Amino acid sequence: MTSNEDIFSNEQKLYTRVSMLPLYDRLLKIPFRDTVSAIEHCRNVCADFGFTVKQEASANRNIYVYCSREGLPDSQRNPKPTPQRKRPSKRCDCRWRVVLSENDQEQWEFRKSMNPNASEHNHEMMAPGEMIKAWPPEVNEMIIYLAQQRLQTHEIRDAVKQRFPLISWNERRFYNRLTEERKRIRQRNTTERTRRLILLASQLCAVVASNEEWSQCVEGDLQRIGFFSGGPPA
Ligand SMILES: [Zn+2]
Repeated sequence: MTSNEDIFSNEQKLYTRVSMLPLYDRLLKIPFRDTVSAIEHCRNVCADFGFTVKQEASANRNIYVYCSREGLPDSQRNPKPTPQRKRPSKRCDCRWRVVLSENDQEQWEFRKSMNPNASEHNHEMMAPGEMIKAWPPEVNEMIIYLAQQRLQTHEIRDAVKQRFPLISWNERRFYNRLTEERKRIRQRNTTERTRRLILLASQLCAVVASNEEWSQCVEGDLQRIGFFSGGPPA
């Protein structure tokens, strides 16, 4: 622990604590109809308080929203002989986080994390001028729409910049949003293919099953290729 503290910049040691209570007033116990609008709201509120966030879905359908400075800097997590980054990582193992989960009315609400360390930051907050202002939701909608049209990254970037010339461009944010959406598209496509294949397979099975000879033939073939033993024959 001490060795980590030594490496962290003096900024962390001398930071002024900023109470997050007024932030919670604007974030907790507000129902949202979907996770996208909830997280957009959270990003905006956090930006007003001088920090940015990142999100992570979990298997139990909760979404965890962390301070962007969560975790250790790349230089410590995975030291490389020559530094890869142009600007040093700002990560300082900040523990601030909130949890977004669905309530009984099928609406989404933020709550505090059970961990008491999760309600404070361990670093200085950014001044409003330092924050790159949040993009209006239309920008994200356009990125999502164009990603769904399977446009190339440079085409999407050009189109968004042309349509919204006044926003302060943040390449990293653009790239993250695009990557997130492409990941969702891949997941949706896999689910859809699985559904179609299951349907086709059951139709095929019904046809084969109507004939005893066919059924025995298929079962024999599958046995030969090791389908029932969990792998091809040795
Ligand atoms: Zn933080």
